[in-house]
Amino acid sequence: MKNHDQQRSASHVPGIAASAVDAPSPRANKPANPHLISLAQYRRREGLADDLAVLQFCNADSVVPALCDEACDVENDGRCSHGCPAPLLAMGII
Ligand SMILES: [Zn+2]
Repeated sequence: MKNHDQQRSASHVPGIAASAVDAPSPRANKPANPHLISLAQYRRREGLADDLAVLQFCNADSVVPALCDEACDVENDGRCSHGCPAPLLAMGII
């Protein structure tokens, strides 16, 4: 049993505090944007069935609501004042 425990702790990088080793990926260290909503939430809010519907919805206009809980209008390649991206930007299409 004792050997097993030592092997587990050896997997931690020596010299680095446990909290640093256990920290999630760097992306998770970015402060979360409280206004940002997911694409799924966006589709529900706008009544869009799927990603294709989002594409068509965004293609129809040059200004669309951002993935923001304030429903800010942004250009298709822009972000609102809260830093939330336009859907096409979030989908990686632009
Ligand atoms: Zn916003």
